Amino acid sequence: MHVPSLIEKKREGGALAEGEIRFLIEGFTAGTIPDYQMSAMAMAICLRGMSREETTALTRAMLESGDRFTWPDGAPRVVDKHSTGGIGDKVSLVLAPLLACDDLWVPMISGRGLGITGGTLDKLESIPGFRVGLSRDEAVAQLERIGVVMMGQTEDICPADRKLYALRDVTGTVPSRPLIVASILSKKLAESLDALVLDVKFGSGAFMKTREEAEALGEAMRDVGESMGVETTSHYNTMDEPLGRAVGNALEVVEAIEVLRGGGPDDLRTLVIELADTVSTTGKEQLACWLDDGSAWDTFRALVDAQGGDVGTLGDFAKVHAATVVRELRADRSGVVVRLDAGGVGRAALALGAGRSRADDRIDFSTGFDRLAKTGETVKAGDVLARVHAPTEEAAAVAEQAFHELSEIR
Ligand code: URA
Repeated sequence: MHVPSLIEKKREGGALAEGEIRFLIEGFTAGTIPDYQMSAMAMAICLRGMSREETTALTRAMLESGDRFTWPDGAPRVVDKHSTGGIGDKVSLVLAPLLACDDLWVPMISGRGLGITGGTLDKLESIPGFRVGLSRDEAVAQLERIGVVMMGQTEDICPADRKLYALRDVTGTVPSRPLIVASILSKKLAESLDALVLDVKFGSGAFMKTREEAEALGEAMRDVGESMGVETTSHYNTMDEPLGRAVGNALEVVEAIEVLRGGGPDDLRTLVIELADTVSTTGKEQLACWLDDGSAWDTFRALVDAQGGDVGTLGDFAKVHAATVVRELRADRSGVVVRLDAGGVGRAALALGAGRSRADDRIDFSTGFDRLAKTGETVKAGDVLARVHAPTEEAAAVAEQAFHELSEIR
């Protein structure tokens, strides 16, 4: 097959045949189709879309680029959750160990930061020593011991998504329904799940800007998930302001730890319990109890230990990645916070080094925002609206300026 002709076909709005899609994904994974051709194809898909049949074929081809987990006879119910991406979305860090308290298996395969949104793998890697690149055998052995594993795509599991995800992150080709469906579901189907809950975000800090777009994405994922035998439920949640009060890799781990220890911001805790409840065998009350009585926190520490992370750092994690500059951003008037634009916070965090502009960029785990005010809160002039964690005074000043433009008090 001639790759430029396939790119042209999609560019002109044509439908790719299953064999053509498989050829593209196999060639890209094997390295015979170079990044520049796959970038052009991803952009054509972004602009022209894909039919239901093409989306299913893409998901299958990406899934079959690697192996699937197979579970031993008598394994517990296997469940997972995936978010379509947001700002300050550290739900997975709390939810995965929480579900493992319920004698479920949670083989969570996640991604890195994508576009302006943060990624679970980057957050986990801010924990010194934490390894996200596990083999299948290591993952199964860990599930047998503690019921939860949090890992990335590997050479064996979803290698196509591993490559395409990194490419989309830096080529402006993230917000595409078929690409998101195939990316998320290829990972989740490789987990051979019984049940999956999807947190489909919409708003300024999400890839889908409206509820209608989010519903179309949620339906498409449910369609593909159910057709491949996974009980799939979509929840729709706004992403107009950041989730919780922290944005940035290590800062989000600090906040996740607060929730795992029974505290933390209400919106984050409530969402974790809501999503966990959809796939767990117990009720919300028990889930809340496992956050309050230390069970989820113990499981998180066991998870970190099992994956080579330094558990000793978790007790006072804020100290592990101290930014060079921490500046308080203060309200210039009294009133009610009516806007704290999630997309703007995400872009500002990216500019501070919390995400990537090039595939080989190194993340600065220390940067971002914390102590963020929430919309609806009343503040007085001079109150702290947020703190910016920056690598330099100049970067802090740029972030401060951006912050005042993306927040509004009335
Ligand atoms: N999460 C993923 O894993 N992939 C996407 O494309 C978007 C969110």
